[in-house]
Amino acid sequence: MTELPIFGQDTPQGPILGIDLGTTNTLVAVFDASGARILADANGEELLPSVVSFPKDELPLVGQSALDRARFDPKRTIHSAKRLIGKGIADLKEEQASLPYDLVNAPDRSLACIDLGYRQVNPSEVSGYILAAARSRAAQALKIKREDLTRAVITVPAYFDDAQRQATRDAARFAGLDVVRMLSEPTAAALAYGFEKKEAQRVIIFDLGGGTLDVSLLKLEKGVFRVLATAGDTRLGGDDFDRFLMNLAAEKIQKKTGVDVLRSPAGRATLRRAAEDCKKQLSTSETGTLKYHDPQAGVAWKQEIDWRTFQKGITPYVQRALDACAQVLQDAELNIEDVDEVVLVGGSTRVPLVKAAVSQFFQTTCHDELDPEKVVALGAAVQAGILGGKANNLLLLDVTPLSLGIETMGGTVSKLIPRNTAIPSQAKETFTTYVDGQSAISLNIIQGEREMASDNRSLGNFTLSGIPPMPAGLPQATVQFTLDADGLLRVQAKEQRSGVETEIAIEPKHGLTDKEVESMLQDAWDHAEEDLTQRRLADVRTQLDTVFRSVEKSNSLFSQLSEVQRERLEDAREEATTSDSVTSPDLLKGILDELEDASYPLAEILMNQVAVHAVQGQNLTEFSKE
Ligand code: ADP
Ligand code: MG
Repeated sequence: MTELPIFGQDTPQGPILGIDLGTTNTLVAVFDASGARILADANGEELLPSVVSFPKDELPLVGQSALDRARFDPKRTIHSAKRLIGKGIADLKEEQASLPYDLVNAPDRSLACIDLGYRQVNPSEVSGYILAAARSRAAQALKIKREDLTRAVITVPAYFDDAQRQATRDAARFAGLDVVRMLSEPTAAALAYGFEKKEAQRVIIFDLGGGTLDVSLLKLEKGVFRVLATAGDTRLGGDDFDRFLMNLAAEKIQKKTGVDVLRSPAGRATLRRAAEDCKKQLSTSETGTLKYHDPQAGVAWKQEIDWRTFQKGITPYVQRALDACAQVLQDAELNIEDVDEVVLVGGSTRVPLVKAAVSQFFQTTCHDELDPEKVVALGAAVQAGILGGKANNLLLLDVTPLSLGIETMGGTVSKLIPRNTAIPSQAKETFTTYVDGQSAISLNIIQGEREMASDNRSLGNFTLSGIPPMPAGLPQATVQFTLDADGLLRVQAKEQRSGVETEIAIEPKHGLTDKEVESMLQDAWDHAEEDLTQRRLADVRTQLDTVFRSVEKSNSLFSQLSEVQRERLEDAREEATTSDSVTSPDLLKGILDELEDASYPLAEILMNQVAVHAVQGQNLTEFSKE
């Protein structure tokens, strides 16, 4: 068994940061006692726009403040540096057309540089400023000195080549960070979801960001990820959705006022922001407001955009995204059925049409439990946690580390929420009574992987009482588990026929260290076979008890059996009463089967009686209560 180190003892140099250096946005995260978490700036902002602005004679600005300068100083405000990093100018011919700033050859003519007019800056340096800002933000959020944050896991697209990776490393060095691991973005997403804990399986990571689409097919084998295939489109993303709305607005504004707002960089930047706002509204409501206000040009324009218009406008882009999905399957020579999980990554997967289209394509519900904009950074932090020894492959992530369930008859466990279920989560199961007239059901809430309740941990007991007398099996007690985002478990039980209900709240993780969780899991593995035998034995015994009881209940009818029938039944009863010491499930099953067979004639007599009683006006329930 592997030992889990104690949090906070293994970090002479401070924690390792997990950084998603995105084309549009950058995020920084850490892994600590509470798991992976994103670090926000002083205003609570988690996304750091991947933009650096270089005003002459002033210090560069990074993030939102740089983005704000885009409209005044487009030639010195650099966005999308990730598109340029590690590439020569010849590779960027197409790129240049859509960039507001100028590209030139670096002095050594190998890589492309950006010409700021007063000096040249290379893309690694631009990314370096972004990483430096992420590092400062982390220092502030963690209240530790910047000098103590020197190591990072940085994510890059799966298809990044050596030059691009090397240039990203250079960027980190510029920011004073040593890259302890360069992690591919899809792998990070899979790590964030804790898929490394599952057996061999295939996962599609569908990542639609601001300007790029990456579809990756990963294969997970014994905790190791392999990228089987990638496909995508380096010119597809949320920017296209924005552009659709921008064009729509610009056209209408021009018709109404005669002003072409797209002509000036400032107008374009303002309209782009308005379009993005409207797009985001359309992710959560049926209409969005698109507005443009420019007092100087005398333009004040506003229009409601309904989701149908938006959906129609972006359909061609969504279709292209699906083409990439088909491509990745074709490259890997696999079918949709071979894919086990689909994960949505990137801010643009919040668009309902995108989500629906991808789900429909893969004929499955896609994972979106984790925020699609944060999932890569969270995964980077998980990797950082693993490297820092804070987490091994058994992680307390946003998933339940151990199964949660209810003890059932015979002391076995009925699992309601299996381990590794992403939280929040909800599950429901219906139980019934075991003896006639039972007025209370006692519920034992169990956490753990073992088959028998007594081998697991009991989180609490509570009783659903006040059930009106009913024959065994008739009451329907619905037990509902609700596990909220903080890992708090609420258990509600309600008897459906009578309406009586009760509720309890508990904190499943409370008092459990990682080490204990791991040892509980290990225990389950070690005892898996033995547990299964025990479980079967318990299940068979419960069935045997039930049959035995019903036979006993009808002993007044024994006289109606034939001699042979009665003898066989008596023998079977005898076997059953002396079966307490039987430990083999198969042997016990034999006894059960015999008792069932032997009591069959009895059941027939009973059935006939029920029919007679029913005819006489007595209903079934009353009869069986006798
Ligand atoms: P990248 O990986 O390229 O840095 P992100 O994953 O951060 O990109 O995604 C950024 C994109 O997601 C932007 O186009 C942004 O407008 C879009 N986006 C963010 N939130 C939403 C939303 N609620 N609805 C639609 N699009 C969104
Ligand atoms: Mg991204």
